[in-house]
Amino acid sequence: MSNVRTRALAESATHQAERFYADPRPVSEYFGMNVFDLPKMQLYLSQQAYNAVVNAVENGAALEREVADQIALGMKNWAVKMGATHYTHWFQPLTDATAEKHESFSDPVKSAGGGSFENFRGSTLIQQEPDASSFPNGGLRNTFEARGYTAWDPTSPAFIIGKTLCIPTVFVSYTGEALDQKTPHLKSIAALDKAAVAVCRMFDKNVEKVIPQLGIEQEYFLVDSALYSARPDLVACGRTLLGHTAAKDQQLEDHYFGAIPSRVMAFMQDFETEAYKLGVHLKTRHNEVAPNQFEFAPVYGQANISSDQNLMMMIIMKAIAEKHHLRVIFHEKPFDGVNGSGKHCNWSLVTNTGVNLLKPGKNPRANLQFLCFFSCVLRGVYEHNHLLMSTVASLNNMYRLGGNEAPPAVLSIFIGETLTRLVESIEKLPDDSLAKVSDKDIKVRSKMHIVNQIPEILPDNTDRNRTSPFAFTGNRFEFRAVGSSANVASSIFVLNAVVAEQLIRFKNLVGDNMEKGMSESKAMMKVIRQFLVESRKIRFEGNGYSEQWRKEAARRGLKSISVPSAFEEYKVKKNTDLFQTLDIMTRREAEARYEVLNEIYVKKLQIEARVLGDLVTNHVIPTAITFQNSLIRNVQGIKELFPENYMEMSSMQMNLIEKISGYINILHKDVHDLVEARKVANKIADIPAKAKAYSETVAPYMAKIREKADKLEMVIDDELWPLPKYRELQSFR
Ligand code: ADP
Ligand code: MG
Repeated sequence: MSNVRTRALAESATHQAERFYADPRPVSEYFGMNVFDLPKMQLYLSQQAYNAVVNAVENGAALEREVADQIALGMKNWAVKMGATHYTHWFQPLTDATAEKHESFSDPVKSAGGGSFENFRGSTLIQQEPDASSFPNGGLRNTFEARGYTAWDPTSPAFIIGKTLCIPTVFVSYTGEALDQKTPHLKSIAALDKAAVAVCRMFDKNVEKVIPQLGIEQEYFLVDSALYSARPDLVACGRTLLGHTAAKDQQLEDHYFGAIPSRVMAFMQDFETEAYKLGVHLKTRHNEVAPNQFEFAPVYGQANISSDQNLMMMIIMKAIAEKHHLRVIFHEKPFDGVNGSGKHCNWSLVTNTGVNLLKPGKNPRANLQFLCFFSCVLRGVYEHNHLLMSTVASLNNMYRLGGNEAPPAVLSIFIGETLTRLVESIEKLPDDSLAKVSDKDIKVRSKMHIVNQIPEILPDNTDRNRTSPFAFTGNRFEFRAVGSSANVASSIFVLNAVVAEQLIRFKNLVGDNMEKGMSESKAMMKVIRQFLVESRKIRFEGNGYSEQWRKEAARRGLKSISVPSAFEEYKVKKNTDLFQTLDIMTRREAEARYEVLNEIYVKKLQIEARVLGDLVTNHVIPTAITFQNSLIRNVQGIKELFPENYMEMSSMQMNLIEKISGYINILHKDVHDLVEARKVANKIADIPAKAKAYSETVAPYMAKIREKADKLEMVIDDELWPLPKYRELQSFR
């Protein structure tokens, strides 16, 4: 007996643990070798060019044409020496993936002798015009004006993957509107910097820059490549649309932090070697909760770079997994019934003087500064909680949120017991006590004041409430609802924006209070108290997975997200005003996102619905019929042998035949109805309306069809079943 599944199983059995990139040297000897970082620029660039890059990185200064030529020359010399033959402007379209169009360095020599030379000009480094008319743009580019430009982001260093020099770029339309995730992210970093520096200066005049930091924990699944290829749903949708849960998956919690399977370990080591060469400080690796789920986390760094590095890692992981006959799955919910994957974004703010503004300080003054920033984050996240939560909304992530051990679909902030006590006491402070807890002199005298209690909180003793989508973890906030396949920039730019808005408001309110004659620290405490009171509803310390919380959240007016309606947040005036005021995005750009998100939603669901229809029609039903036929033949045989009592003897088979017929009929009808619903939805021209129709009339069939198909999987002869089963996909031999 041989079918697609049994052949795939046989092939997967031949896949061994093997290393391909083993490098015996200590990591420190090759760390960063594939990145054109500042030390390498020092070697390859003239002093003038080097200074220009540093100035561009640190102060956002524009690069002169002539200097750009010098930088390009140095970059090319390094890349060619490293064996690169091509370069690409590497950009981040609104689809969450990254895009690249490779160009060869090689140009013909025009003189009589001919030949080839490596050529790379400043103008090519700085700007390119990829033929990008097919990237989603939400109407920002008419098709006749299909031009989009990529422009170098010098704050993120160029790197080499394989034989290609990748140059991180933004992607904008002819008229300068953002067509990507990086542009608003960079702008939000600038807006936050400006707002945060203004607040910091009230404490320390030496602060010139505040840089958001990101540490991204990436969860992913691995599946054997032969088994993966035998699952059309995994191949086309990145998730299983069918498949009965395995008898044993994550119930025993024996996978989490367990020994890493040897094939996976070999993959991880190769992946890490390449990551180190790309200058990424991978720190942790471990099994995750679901059977074939894993996680890695690098050391945190500047948000823009961490975000780019995460995308780089996703690319090299895919390539290296293939060498190991593995497929890496970044989909948020590839398997029903077990945990999905997220990308936890650990976020903090650090000054150029090296102070983490979200870390409680060692003295009252530093703690006051901590409270300023802490209260602004709470206030900002509360103000735009639905928008922030909507940034993680996607077809994929909605299969995960609210499910097995995943953050709920409503935003709340967990701050831990100690801080809750502190916040509650600040909220209750009468006006005349505000100065007592904030004025330096008084504080030094009294050890009992509130602000002094903060140093007790160390990162280690903040409770770990895993059920919260947004948690304070001692010296940073952790946004856990972000999906594993997402470009984190699409969420982080909003987080930066909402905090920047409150920092500006904070500074203004403190100024108002001081004009009324308050001391600076009293004025600050007053605003801190105000912000904490105003954002009270966003704080929740209990179990975010519970039904009670869902009700409580609704009572508090915290809205749960659902797709595609969450996308509407990009059209809400309050939100577009936020982006526009901070110079992060125009109203038109925000609305373009709304269009693009709806479009992506429709396309993904369209593909899923088609694949499911095909699977049921071409795999499930024919297999059910084959098995049913064998049962019928069996009953006929019994009848020939025992004409008297065959009815009794074959009652089990008869029941089964009947049961299978029932499932086949329902499946057939549901698939037919699904196709009809799709046809109706496809006729709708308006994309958001189409998305709504898809979610309301097509999506409901998906789960319904799956349920019956999975029932068939359980009754049909294992030998006949053509799709690798969960228990097979979820283990490594
Ligand atoms: P856990 O799973 O307990 O949340 P991990 O060690 O897996 O912790 O990941 C924590 C992530 O947070 C790492 O990427 C780490 O570098 C990052 N991180 C630690 N401190 C900060 C900070 N101050 N700002 C931003 N990220 C941080
Ligand atoms: Mg974490």
